[in-house]
Amino acid sequence: MKDQIFIDGAYCASASGEFFDVVDPADRKVFHHVPRGIAADIDRAVVAARRAFEEGPWPRMSGAERAGVLRRMGDEIAARTDELARLEVRDNGKPLPEAVWDIEDTAGVFHFYADLAEGLDGAEQAITLGMDGFTSKAVKEPIGVAGAIIPWNFPMLMASWKVAPALAAGCTIVLKPSELTPCTALELGEIANKAGLPYGVLNIVTGYGDEAGQPLTEHPGVDKLAFTGSIPTGSRIMATAARDIKAVSLELGGKSPMVIFADTPLDEAVEWIMFGIFWNQGEVCSATSRVLVEAPIYDALIARLAEEARKIKIGHGLEEGVLLGPLVSQGQLEKVLAWIETGKAEARLVCGGGVPKGLEGGCYIEPTIFADMGKDARIWTEEIFGPVVCVKPFDTEAEAIRMANNSRFGLGAAVMSADLDRAERVARAFRAGIVWINCSQPTFTEAPWGGYKQSGIGRELGEWGLNNYLETKQITSFDRSRPWGWYLKE
Ligand code: NAD
Repeated sequence: MKDQIFIDGAYCASASGEFFDVVDPADRKVFHHVPRGIAADIDRAVVAARRAFEEGPWPRMSGAERAGVLRRMGDEIAARTDELARLEVRDNGKPLPEAVWDIEDTAGVFHFYADLAEGLDGAEQAITLGMDGFTSKAVKEPIGVAGAIIPWNFPMLMASWKVAPALAAGCTIVLKPSELTPCTALELGEIANKAGLPYGVLNIVTGYGDEAGQPLTEHPGVDKLAFTGSIPTGSRIMATAARDIKAVSLELGGKSPMVIFADTPLDEAVEWIMFGIFWNQGEVCSATSRVLVEAPIYDALIARLAEEARKIKIGHGLEEGVLLGPLVSQGQLEKVLAWIETGKAEARLVCGGGVPKGLEGGCYIEPTIFADMGKDARIWTEEIFGPVVCVKPFDTEAEAIRMANNSRFGLGAAVMSADLDRAERVARAFRAGIVWINCSQPTFTEAPWGGYKQSGIGRELGEWGLNNYLETKQITSFDRSRPWGWYLKE
């Protein structure tokens, strides 16, 4: 485990000389400490990234050369899957099989963007102009120095969603992981060095949002900010970025709906509702936390869902068979418990709602189901970010779409029906950036990820993720054999 920040290819101390604790949410014990990075560290990191961008080889290498480094980073992450996954379990609390999946995905993201980096070689586009004597083409170039700020729910995976495409594009980057889960992201420095990434291209500064994140968003040496996290922080980052007209991409919160039509077999619906809200303890930005059920199966579905939710094995992420680990922190546990109290006054608590017996020593919470809330209930409209699902009935397709879209968020949405025409119709009608038909949550590196409305700006993953880190330049040439003759007449 690293206990130093990573700047210009070397692990080093923070200018603050201070550290903060990293706590295992399974037992609330401090298991590590990392530097409390401050503005001076961010400045050093941005200066290193700027130098690597202006003078270093990285932006000038071919895409194929960059791809080689990215592939080696992916290989190294894959080779260290078990160790990194176990570290993720301690840091975040998630069950080991989910952490293994995250790390495998992280390696896959580096491999995917290695392929896209190769694709950048010679990827210029000829442009047909409406005037004789001119030819033009569009070329893609790296945007410059990127600043990446990430949350705690998928610590290493979220880092890869920004670091891998930025590197593929030829950018240099400063990464600020969440103060709650800084451990795996810090390992990326060693992984980068081993893969032969030139010094200064990747820099990692741990610290709090106001002390390290804010200076990164304010730094004039940063060209582009990529942020994943809450709406209030995203809004602040966008406002700060406006001062220097920095490009911004934002992946923010959600309250994603899932519409279940009565022709869906109950067990299928239950499986995907549960995956949509209990996977990763419900600490998933796209979690389908609002479930709309067609009236004829509403009562039966709730009964079956509660029966299965009660069976979920809750416990330490390293324990065999556990499907629900602790929430990430005491603070998050308190937030979710407060939402459950709000919910008890607004709706019918079907099951869960408490701290599981015998697990009071960690940040655990039972899978929780609420039903029968009014349309303005806050548990129905606000993001809870825990294993808490709200279920409501609907009568018609039009009503379901109206209820689903009646939200300031627009990240994910899901529909389940045996009638695929209807499912497609509803999928098109959702005002959301990620729509699942007959499932919820599976996420693929190749496909675009991001939100409508207040859930964000821009798209990550796939070719869209690469475009976040590219500028488009037109190069237009004039045929010198012709006179232009505007001022100098023949
Ligand atoms: P958060 O906004 O509290 O923190 C996210 C990051 O921003 C952290 O690294 C934090 O230190 C930093 N930060 C805080 N204040 C800052 C400031 N003033 N300037 C710069 N940086 C600052 O969010 P969180 O609690 O870590 O994550 C949970 C939120 O993230 C949820 O709302 C969730 O929906 C969202 N999320 C979205 C996606 C997505 O892809 N859309 C993915 C994961 C999480």
